[in-house]
Amino acid sequence: MTARAPVPAYLPFARPSIDEECIAGVVEVLRSGWIASGPNVLNFEQALSDYHGGRPVRTLTSATAAIEVALKIAGIGAGDEVITPAMSFFSGVNMIVRAGATPVFVDCDLDSRNLDFHRVEAAITPRTRAILPTHFAGLPADMDRLYEIAGRRGLRVIEDAALAIGSRWKGRRIGSFGDITVFSFHPNKNLTTIEGGALVLRDAAEAKQAEQLRFHGIVRLPDGTRDVEVAGGKYNLSDVSARIGLSQLAQLEHFNALRRQLAAHYFSCLRDSPCRLPARPNPHDELDHSWNMYCVLLPLERMSISRKQFIEAMHARGIGIGISYEAIHLTTLGRRMGYHEGMFPNTERIARETVTLPLFPQMTEADVERVCDAVADILDHACN
Ligand SMILES: *Cc1c(COP(=O)(O)O)cnc(C)c1O
Repeated sequence: MTARAPVPAYLPFARPSIDEECIAGVVEVLRSGWIASGPNVLNFEQALSDYHGGRPVRTLTSATAAIEVALKIAGIGAGDEVITPAMSFFSGVNMIVRAGATPVFVDCDLDSRNLDFHRVEAAITPRTRAILPTHFAGLPADMDRLYEIAGRRGLRVIEDAALAIGSRWKGRRIGSFGDITVFSFHPNKNLTTIEGGALVLRDAAEAKQAEQLRFHGIVRLPDGTRDVEVAGGKYNLSDVSARIGLSQLAQLEHFNALRRQLAAHYFSCLRDSPCRLPARPNPHDELDHSWNMYCVLLPLERMSISRKQFIEAMHARGIGIGISYEAIHLTTLGRRMGYHEGMFPNTERIARETVTLPLFPQMTEADVERVCDAVADILDHACN
């Protein structure tokens, strides 16, 4: 028999970290008989509020639901425009459209992948009601520019911070200040509840609105019966999920520190790579970035293979690769609104060239080296 090198385990591009304490806690909730929204949801919301400087927090079944509820709370509907990046996940735009409003796309910066604020001003019209930015991959958008423009033009802000829990802007956590902040607890995010999301709101009145909108619009009357003032949805988190969230939140700072170390290792291993690397926060502000994803741009113009072939070659080496994101304005939905190629060059270039390399807390620096060696090997053969 010929000796073979051991086949390394498959490395996915994202993976949740669930420990035995969490599993035991979930079993306890399952045995308790109270599995839908109950005491664990209240505890998780309190813990999230403490983490975000005491601001009111309400959980929901997803960030997408949270964006839908946030748009309602901000009073956005038919005839309104909402400024949002063309380079993001689809949730924000879908919810803007479903609210009856019009998304107005703006291009992003090539390296931070965050909203280009020079272009935000120009996109404002008398119908603009809000800005819905994304903190791309966990790197905060320029919060000074964002709130300066929103304040001066009287706009609401709904921050899509799905990837940015624990990220900071000038030392302050995303969600601990600002207007409305949305987090996601999907398994690929820095903190998971399986599915789940949260809203950080301005005040108790908005928190009350969120409670109604996430649960049938119900308000309880003094006589013990229920009333409905607004047509609410059904987006309440389960106690099982909230219990997972409590374990996750207790470890979040640790998870994020591990992500930052792995990202730093990617930067050092890829320093001579022909790939274009993502923006880093200021060296003295490394804590600002929670590094949900490490996305590089492939040197496609110099490559003899397509991105799809590159991804397949990585997969053949046991390495998972993601794509974040497609250009939203070039989806069928976007084109139907009149958008076309050439409108947002940075977004379109990122959409063509980006690949997401594996990054999750249980990875080792050796895993990062394995990924970078595979990238180098494939590109050595594919670049001219
Ligand atoms: C994951 C994600 C969402 C959607 O989160 P869900 O909880 O799955 O609804 C929205 N925006 C961004 C930027 C995301 O990465």
